[in-house]
Amino acid sequence: HQQLTIKTEKLSLAGQLAASIAHEVRNPLTSIKGFMKLAREDVMHDSYYTIIEEEIDRIETIASELLVLGKPISIEVGVHDAGKMVRDVCVLMQSQAVMRKIDIQFQDIEPACFISCNAGQMKQVFINLIKNATEAMENGGVIRASVRLYEDKVHVKIEDEGKGMPEHVLKKIGEPFYSTKEDGTGLGLMVCFNIVEQYGGTIEVKSEVNEGTVFTIQLPVAPC
Ligand code: ADP
Ligand code: MG
Repeated sequence: HQQLTIKTEKLSLAGQLAASIAHEVRNPLTSIKGFMKLAREDVMHDSYYTIIEEEIDRIETIASELLVLGKPISIEVGVHDAGKMVRDVCVLMQSQAVMRKIDIQFQDIEPACFISCNAGQMKQVFINLIKNATEAMENGGVIRASVRLYEDKVHVKIEDEGKGMPEHVLKKIGEPFYSTKEDGTGLGLMVCFNIVEQYGGTIEVKSEVNEGTVFTIQLPVAPC
């Protein structure tokens, strides 16, 4: 059992992202435009409207997932309790997880793990990681979340018992629109890496196929 570790720092460049977004949004737009032409020519089928709606949904999802990256200058940054944020997100996600026979447990929540960040952005990071963990466990299982202080770093760990990632997937995660899922956007981890980097942190990934995956976020502890 070989364990793989990849440290991810400084991922996507703005240009790479812009090109990918343009590409990903153009496909559904082209399709919508084609169906509009059919509508004008009065050769629409009911099923075409469904496709149009799906394509619009796709663009909407991409837009909302990217919204959270925001402009660092226009968002409110404050000092927040990482333990409380992770606990809140676990409670939020648990309601969806029970249906999939998944239990989300938070443990080792230490007091005074404060970090400087925008609360909405950082919660989005935790949501994206727990969502991926949930999606990796098709037959249910346990997700463990913990928050601990190691010297001057707050460590947030999200551990799952899911299908894990082979090396070729590990190498590509975080690239915009890279997804192995049929209806995935491949934006979740890119958003995570960008937000964490924005606050001077790093994300480490350990994964073993058929065993599970551990994401560890390290962020500087906020000065009191
Ligand atoms: P999406 O979830 O839309 O596919 P993400 O950026 O969130 O996009 O994840 C990219 C890919 O990384 C996923 O498609 C999946 O292959 C892999 N992945 C991410 N998290 C996990 C995990 N906890 N376990 C297994 N695979 C994962
Ligand atoms: Mg995801």
